[in-house]
Formats: sequence, structure tokens, C-alpha cells
Amino acid sequence: MKTSPYSRSDARKRDREDPLKKYRREFYRPGRVIYMDGNSLGLCSRRAKRTLLKHWTAWKKQGIGGWLNADPPWFTLGENLGAKAAPLVGALSNEVIAAGSTTVNIHALLSGFYRPGRKKRKILVDALNFPTDLYAAAAQIRLHGGDPDRDLIRVESADGVILAEEEIIGHMNEEVAVALLPSVLYGSGQLLNIKRLTEAAHDNGILIGFDCSHSAGTVDHRLHEWGVDFAMWCSYKYMNGGPGSIAFMFVHEKHFDRTPSMTGWWGYVKNRQFDMLPRFEPERGAAGWQISTPGVLSAAPLEGSLQMLAEAGIRKVREKSLALTGYLMELFDAWIGAPYDMRIVTPREPSRRGGHVALEHEQAWRITQALKARGVIPDFRPPSVIRLAPSALYISFEEVRTGMRRLKKIMDTRAYLSFPGRRDAVS
Ligand SMILES: *Cc1c(COP(=O)(O)O)cnc(C)c1O
Repeated sequence: MKTSPYSRSDARKRDREDPLKKYRREFYRPGRVIYMDGNSLGLCSRRAKRTLLKHWTAWKKQGIGGWLNADPPWFTLGENLGAKAAPLVGALSNEVIAAGSTTVNIHALLSGFYRPGRKKRKILVDALNFPTDLYAAAAQIRLHGGDPDRDLIRVESADGVILAEEEIIGHMNEEVAVALLPSVLYGSGQLLNIKRLTEAAHDNGILIGFDCSHSAGTVDHRLHEWGVDFAMWCSYKYMNGGPGSIAFMFVHEKHFDRTPSMTGWWGYVKNRQFDMLPRFEPERGAAGWQISTPGVLSAAPLEGSLQMLAEAGIRKVREKSLALTGYLMELFDAWIGAPYDMRIVTPREPSRRGGHVALEHEQAWRITQALKARGVIPDFRPPSVIRLAPSALYISFEEVRTGMRRLKKIMDTRAYLSFPGRRDAVS
């Protein structure tokens, strides 16, 4: 048997030694493909399907009775799923709630945490964050009578892909009220130092929130211990909750006395919600930040997928994810790299990268299409980034290896040149 570090038999050996290998079988695959797009839409698992059908059956058989008698009852499904997700981000059970959708949650949280004063009225963001976060922050400034051109501070990146923490910290001054940053940058896959940024924000009297959409379910956080003020994330990426599945909010315990701004009856003190009283009184905990009736069928698959993540353990998931992305980068260096004008823009250090690897090339869109035509599903972010996300629960080392072989072939033969240069609407 060949024992070269990059031989097929070596990849298979890594798979045999993988403590999470049994979870692969639990996922459905969209055809015979190597699915590296788990950071856009995670795959469907048997367990997710089972809990979806369970709640669908409860609706069918119990009608309105499901609110109290489904298992678990829909009335407190947001709390139930929040408690299940909490260990994945290092939070207390009642600091996390499943509710709404990511952007709505950004608005809900920002509107409650952004209370601008005369001098302290700026929101600090970075220029590389997901656009919706920037739109929401600008909108909150406008809603509070401010002007985003003046009050929204966007920290730039020197190279357009990586952020320097000291640069962000350098912008933290007495005029900043709130900072909203990503945990992992959706483009380059850089993982920010959440602990350090949180400490720096607090040293400057700034409240800080993180959008963990690109880390929840693949990176282990300690949001409570680090004192992060608030956070939100979607559940359809590494949490495998399904397209548009319900999102999450985290509110640190120290803020449980803070009254939300975008109030709605679903955040009312739970055991008196149906008293239907005219004056709002929030439930204590993240639950008080809920706005309206949760989409039960968009929450249902999460019950199964969160159970799997809990069973696998987020530390183990993170370990395997780092091993997969590390392996991918080694293969890239050995087989592809500079001679092809392609480079990895994701930081190499494990403590600075999330769950995906970003490759940059001038013809990234064409290469993306060539990969898809050869059964490798990456995604593309303009203008020139290809993202490869080997999701730890369902991607094997052998698949990473095969994917990189195909990429090498595409680069060697310049097969990408036969694909059009213009893009589809959803990439
Ligand atoms: C995926 C993602 C979102 C998605 O927002 P939706 O409201 O769910 O459409 C938002 N922010 C970040 C950082 C993301 O990665």
C-alpha cells in the first residue's frame, strides 16, 4: 500500500480513524456529488426529516392541540431549541432562543442594544461583513434619527479579504455605542478573536454583538464566558436546519433586565401570554426578545439536526472540521498553488479560520462551474472567491482529496475556459 501523505489510501486511513464517520450515513446527498456547500445550505439528514415529519403529523392529528401536546410542545419550541443550541455556542440555556430569521433578529437585537446618546451614537461594523448586517445597521441608525454616512463606521480591510483585529479595536472610541461584527467572515473564512474584541469593546464602554451565521454548528464558542452582549445566527448553514429554517438569538444573562424594542406577544411572560393584556411585559431571558409565532415547520428539522450535533459534540466537530480544512490546504499547496495563479485567502492558523476555505482566482466563476460539472459543489462569492466547506458531519477526507484532484485537473487542462463568464442569480 502506498503511504504517501496524499495517496488515496492515506485519505481512507484518515476516514477510518475519524470518530465522527458514522454520521455521514445519516445524510441524504443531492446526487453523486461532493457537497462542499454546507456553509450556504447544509444537507438534509434522516433525523431532520424524522422530526419534520413528527411535527407535521402532530399538526395533522392534533390540530391546535399541538401547541401544548406536541412533543415537544410548539408553545415553547423556541425555548426548547434554544436550550439545545446553547451548548454549541457556550451559552446558558435561557440565553438562547430559536426565533424569526437572521436579519429580523439583527434588527430586533440592534434596536434593543443601540440606544444612541448625543455623543455616543455610532455603530461600528466592518466592510467585509455580510451585506444584510450592514443594511440593518444603517437602517437602525436612520430609525434613530441618525445618518449612516456619519454614524456607521466601517472598518476597512487592507487586502479586501482579511480583517486586522487591532484595526477594529483602533476604531473603538467614546463615540461608538455598539459594535456588530461577524464571528467568521463569509468570504475569506477568517475567524475573528471574539474574546479579544469583546474585552476591547467593553474597555471602551461599547456593547458588542456577533453574527455567528458562519460559525454556529462548526466552531465552538464561549459566548457566555467571554461576556459577548448579544449574538444571532441562521440555522441552515452548519446547523443543517433546512432552507430558511428558524434562526437564533443570544442575549447575555447580564442583559436580562433590558427591555427589547421590537416587542411582540411571543416575547410576553410565557405563563400569562394568553391573558392578552394590553401592556407588554417581557419574559426573562432571550425568550423576551421573540416577536411572533415561530414557524413550527421551519423549526422542526432542527430538533433532529441539533440532536446529532449534541451527540457528536461541538469540540469533536470543530476538531474534524479543522483537520478537513487543514488537509484541503495541504493538498492545495502540494498540487495546485501559485503556478496556477490561485491562492488560499483563508488564514492558515487553526485559531483564525472557520469551517470553509476560500480560494482566489481571476476566473473563479468559470472554475466554480467547471467544478460543478465534475460533481464538486463549491460556491462562489464575487468577484473572485471560490468557497469550499467540508462540513464535518458529512464530508470525508477521501471526498476532500477527490475534490482537490478534480480541481487540479480543471486547472491543468484549463477546462474552465469553456464556461461562460456571466453569473447565475443564486451562486
Ligand atoms: C447567511 C448569513 C445571513 C443570512 O441572513 P438571512 O436573514 O437568514 O437571509 C446573515 N448574516 C450572515 C453573516 C450570514 O452568513
